[in-house]
Amino acid sequence: MKTIVNDLEGYLSMGKQEHLLFLDQLYILMNKINADAVDYQTLKAKSTPPLCPECDSRHIVKNGTQNNQQVYLCKECGRSFRDSTGTFVYKIHKREKMLDYIRCMLEGKTLRACAAEVGISLPTSFAWRHRIITTLRSFEDNINFFGVVESDELLMQYSEKGRKYKNIKERIEANKKKKKKVAILATQDRSGNMLFKQFGLDKVKRVEVEQLLKDKVSGNSVLCIGNNVEFRKLRTNDLKKQQIIVNNDRQDGLYSLSIIQKHKSIFKYWINNKFRGVATKYLQSYIMWYVIAHKYLLKQTIADIGRMLNLASSDRRAWYKYKYLREIKAIF
Ligand SMILES: [Zn+2]
Repeated sequence: MKTIVNDLEGYLSMGKQEHLLFLDQLYILMNKINADAVDYQTLKAKSTPPLCPECDSRHIVKNGTQNNQQVYLCKECGRSFRDSTGTFVYKIHKREKMLDYIRCMLEGKTLRACAAEVGISLPTSFAWRHRIITTLRSFEDNINFFGVVESDELLMQYSEKGRKYKNIKERIEANKKKKKKVAILATQDRSGNMLFKQFGLDKVKRVEVEQLLKDKVSGNSVLCIGNNVEFRKLRTNDLKKQQIIVNNDRQDGLYSLSIIQKHKSIFKYWINNKFRGVATKYLQSYIMWYVIAHKYLLKQTIADIGRMLNLASSDRRAWYKYKYLREIKAIF
């Protein structure tokens, strides 16, 4: 394995700012020493205790090396695995091209343009984009809101883009669903914390908003919500210390939905025009790509490659989630 930093302790002891500076230089550094995405994933995996990809056990022992990579054995279930098992680079071919693939993605290139520039096939280009953006889903857990919080419903067209139907019955079923809308709850606070959360079809329900408030909005916040029936039914007495303001469109100033409304329309345009729509089963992955791009990336390609690589390497179970999404026909 190529040594990206002199020692793992050095990597682990970096403060937040130092780590960000390191990530901003990472692409240049990795090119200099000819390291690839699997090398970085290995370093990242070593910064936390090994975890069994099969049963989540931490009861793990080292079990020799294979192709210069450490092999581990789970004492609970007997599964043998490596640092990259189950991550976004698991079982990947042409691993040396992944870093430049991330660069092309961040430059806003289409699947086809990424494939041509990096030298991979179109199906591989699709697979790699989804390997990467599936990892971003786990960042939902890190997002919380405080202060003035805006929350509103966003409806997107239901889609099964790319699906091949086996028979007429499947196609008829799908056509019925295509007339439906996918309901998303779009939330942002004034510090830039943002999350779009995809729920079911037709509309966001009262209980879903209440769950978001319970899980993610801190006490003493002021919540500005859209003026629709489900939102007006919110049980405010369950929501301690949160003041809820129902927006009636004409309001502006401090308690308004102006920021989230702007993001709703940019996101819709991004999905419908840049990607010409995405299959609903993948929509939450694209949502997280949008969230990450606005919250964690700098819109400076070189620095963002390191940041994106680091985010993608943080999810040890990404490959399983990606595989699950590839295999299911639809999520509703
Ligand atoms: Zn196990």
